[in-house]
Amino acid sequence: MTHSLIQASTTLSLKGKNAFITGAASGLGKRIAELYADAGANIVIADLKLQDAQATADAIAKKGVKTLAVAMDVSSEQAVDEGFAQAQKSLGAVDILVSNAGIQIVAPIEEFSFASWKKLLAVHLDGGFLTSRAAVRQMIASGRGGAIIFMGSVHSKEASRLKAPYVTAKHGLEGLAKVIAKEGAAHNIRSNVICPGFVRTPLVEKQIPEQAKELGISEADVIKTVMLKDTVDGEFTTVDDVAQAALTFAAWPSNALTGQSLVVSHGWFMQ
Ligand code: NAD
Repeated sequence: MTHSLIQASTTLSLKGKNAFITGAASGLGKRIAELYADAGANIVIADLKLQDAQATADAIAKKGVKTLAVAMDVSSEQAVDEGFAQAQKSLGAVDILVSNAGIQIVAPIEEFSFASWKKLLAVHLDGGFLTSRAAVRQMIASGRGGAIIFMGSVHSKEASRLKAPYVTAKHGLEGLAKVIAKEGAAHNIRSNVICPGFVRTPLVEKQIPEQAKELGISEADVIKTVMLKDTVDGEFTTVDDVAQAALTFAAWPSNALTGQSLVVSHGWFMQ
């Protein structure tokens, strides 16, 4: 049974801040966008398809904040730079980036195609670089600084079978976050990573049958013996758990909290 866990809440304020969230039409990004809006931030929803981004932006606009939907493939330099320019024109400089867009591809390394390897690294690593570079440029130019948040994973810390490029990319994001923490300090730019355990978003729902097939076990066993095996209580992490961590990183007012990663995983990984 899944216990009701955290009800993400907004005692922290983001009033008047502009938050740019990638992959925000679904899953974790969407819930972070909702919570940031509840905390008073204006929201840019960036995702692959404009219609998906627009639907989320329209729903969030009902909370009384400004929203903008942007169609963007985060692995395209042109699309990222144009999307950030559009956001700046519409809302002003970005104060918070959540670099969250991601995909998963599972296969044993001996069967992994080079094309799949490159595709996954492009979304996670090129996307992390391109979006954080664009955000940092606006944060320096505005003189306000800001918060960069990367969506890492327990796979930023641990390996799992079948996930060579994902584990590689999520480890890499920790390095990028630390460099930006050092370079950004003089501009009041903080940079951190959230490392969730398994959350039942579309990305994970898709993996359950895929892993069952690859490992030759039932879907129930994928959940029990692969995904939640090392948690302290056999529970999934929730979108609210992760959104609450994202709000804390966004609202933290000083460089005291920078260059860090926070693992939100029911104890799957302990620092
Ligand atoms: P999701 O599939 O629900 O959402 C991912 C979103 O990213 C989708 O809306 C998708 O359209 C978008 N996207 C994919 N490729 C893109 C691209 N090239 N450019 C722009 N947008 C793109 O998945 P989620 O679980 O919410 O995943 C969000 C992030 O969280 C990912 O980085 C993922 O690796 C990470 N994460 C997820 C889990 C989990 O268990 N769900 C755990 C740890 C980390």
